[in-house]
Amino acid sequence: MKITAIQVHVCHARMRNWVFVKVLTSEPGLWGWGEGTLEWHTRGVVGSVEDLADLIVGEDPRRIEHLWQMMHRQHFWHGHGVVRATAISAIDIALWDIAGKIANQPCHQLWGGAVRDYVRTYCHLGGGRMEDFYETPVDNAKRFGDLALAAVADGFTAFKSMAVPSTMPLEGQQPIRAAEACVRAMREAVGPDIDIMVDCHARPSPAMGLQFGKALDPYGLYFFEEPCWPESVEGLAMINAAITTPVATGERVTRLSDFRDLFARRACDVCQLDLTHCGGFTEGRRVAALAEAYRIALAPHNPQGPVSTAASLEFGFSQPSYIICETVHADVPWRSDVVTEGFTVERKGRIVRANTKPGLGIELNEAEIKKHPFQPETVQRVFHRDGSVGDW
Ligand SMILES: [Mg+2]
Repeated sequence: MKITAIQVHVCHARMRNWVFVKVLTSEPGLWGWGEGTLEWHTRGVVGSVEDLADLIVGEDPRRIEHLWQMMHRQHFWHGHGVVRATAISAIDIALWDIAGKIANQPCHQLWGGAVRDYVRTYCHLGGGRMEDFYETPVDNAKRFGDLALAAVADGFTAFKSMAVPSTMPLEGQQPIRAAEACVRAMREAVGPDIDIMVDCHARPSPAMGLQFGKALDPYGLYFFEEPCWPESVEGLAMINAAITTPVATGERVTRLSDFRDLFARRACDVCQLDLTHCGGFTEGRRVAALAEAYRIALAPHNPQGPVSTAASLEFGFSQPSYIICETVHADVPWRSDVVTEGFTVERKGRIVRANTKPGLGIELNEAEIKKHPFQPETVQRVFHRDGSVGDW
């Protein structure tokens, strides 16, 4: 059996382009789907998949680890950079989809069988940039409270919000008060038993992240995400040690040794690896094994398209330390035209029952994908009030 071609199918879906990768084989009717969605870098990923195809077309698709090593290590540059790591991830996920189809089993069965009855999911409140409402924190807080109520009415028992504004490396108390008002409003709206997460989007400095973390600690957040740059390992470790709320990070980490450093320094209690960026299932399972050694929870980053979601769920049914999965359920109304899925979602509690179909259990409709061709993502330029560059 040989890989005969690797195709890329780009599908523009509102905020981002979904980058679907199809690995075809010499076996009639046997192919696998992967995803390498990388906002603002779509064309780079498409090119990188094409570069990797030169390397592995003609190889046996069943030698997944061998092919992963080839994609990561050959042609001089290692595959840590996010563009190539994303391309490797997409192909790797497709190869595991093929492996599941060959075995006629869902992917999670290949890794030892289901370790849980269901996977819990959470949603993102959305609602735009908090900075746009910065001058009216009271109204902004009400907006967060309303969005929180809507998420719970939609069946979710956990949700995430971006209740922390972008700040300069040091600012006074105004942004701290604004963030606290929003979190207080959400907690008062939904009560004590709903899990609330706050994502700082790695925008604060360690000093500001610490202040936000201390101010929000009394509200019992489920986790506190990216309170500073992921490169600031000592900053994350300092914040994680200083607050009770577990710190989460990992969505922008693509190097196994960087995950090791985060874990060894206890820079997080929740690892948000992204299977479409960290090297697919092959490397993701190594990250999970490392996390297991430190008793660090897994909560994958998954704001992308339907192949990423299916992959994140297969992973969840195979990993004991997996606690919850990010999901996007209302990005585009035609999502179900593009994909058929093997798992089922129970609206009450938004829990997912395992896929029973081979591989990832999905099939994509290429004719429907073609209706939504590539469009550049909206350019985002972020500046602080003095004109200096901020983080998106
Ligand atoms: Mg995040």
